[in-house]
Amino acid sequence: MKLILLGPPGAGKGTQAKRLEEKYGIVQISTGDMLRAEVAAGSPVGNDAKAVMEAGQLVSDDILVRMLASRLARSDAANGFILDGFPRTVPQAEALDRMLEEKHLRLDAVIELKVDDAALVDRIAGRFTCAKCGAGYHDTFKTPVHTGVCDSCGATEFVRRADDNRDTVVARLDAYHRQTAPIIPHYAAAGLLRSVDGMAEIDDVTGQITAVLALV
Ligand code: ADP
Ligand code: ADP
Ligand code: ZN
Repeated sequence: MKLILLGPPGAGKGTQAKRLEEKYGIVQISTGDMLRAEVAAGSPVGNDAKAVMEAGQLVSDDILVRMLASRLARSDAANGFILDGFPRTVPQAEALDRMLEEKHLRLDAVIELKVDDAALVDRIAGRFTCAKCGAGYHDTFKTPVHTGVCDSCGATEFVRRADDNRDTVVARLDAYHRQTAPIIPHYAAAGLLRSVDGMAEIDDVTGQITAVLALV
């Protein structure tokens, strides 16, 4: 299965990608996670990207396309993948088309998570993740079963992203509407677009995605 999960920041892409990884035995490829790892490592790419990310803007297409090409070339992507956070611009979508064509691969579906902007602000402001395993949580919508302890790995340290604040969210939503939403017609025209109601509860969204994928 080769999928793209598309949707605004906070729509639930990471949350759903983790579930699809397990269900279909495919890897999540999150360009946001990859960039945050570069920033943490202090690499040249990370040093360039840091300020752009903290301002809620998009990192350059060049960097992202190169990053994704080398990630797709790794052996664990051969069974299938879920792209989470890529493509985010029309040039990135076109570069991905060319990459897949060269490898004689085809996408199975592009799943769009539709969520209202007002709900996104609350989702992002309340988001935190396990520092050890990366499991995702929310202050209100998905708290750990035992307060302060990760459900998945038992760790007790959690992190919040530098860009997950109400001020930056506005810039990120603006970038989504101006630069990313225009890729939706690109995939609709290719017959790949499947839209689901991302306003529903987490389990319900997973159910909708699973139902859609049973038909592709
Ligand atoms: P979100 O959880 O808000 O969807 P991500 O973790 O996917 O955010 O991305 C965080 C930030 O990393 C983005 O705001 C952007 O600065 C950068 N980024 C991630 N993926 C891309 C991409 N495909 N193109 C450009 N910038 C990206
Ligand atoms: P994205 O990867 O699209 O930026 P996340 O998967 O990180 O989004 O979700 C953003 C926040 O919203 C997280 O704190 C997550 O726990 C929470 N969340 C995800 N899906 C839902 C949902 N359907 N309803 C309520 N909260 C959700
Ligand atoms: Zn954990």
